[in-house]
Amino acid sequence: MPLYGFICDDCAEDFEELVMSSSKVDAVVCPACGSNKVQRQLSLVAGIKGSSSGTTNSASCSTGGG
Ligand SMILES: [Zn+2]
Repeated sequence: MPLYGFICDDCAEDFEELVMSSSKVDAVVCPACGSNKVQRQLSLVAGIKGSSSGTTNSASCSTGGG
């Protein structure tokens, strides 16, 4: 999900907001003070990460211990 990070210009409150559409960013307001002067972070807070299937090579060599 497109979870963007925002920084309030009024109280410098950092928060995350779910922004489905790019136009919705304009409607984002600060949850702390309610100001609409928020700045969107450049990087996504929780973006879509491609799950890479890594092969774990674990050589299990159990020797019969007594
Ligand atoms: Zn604020």
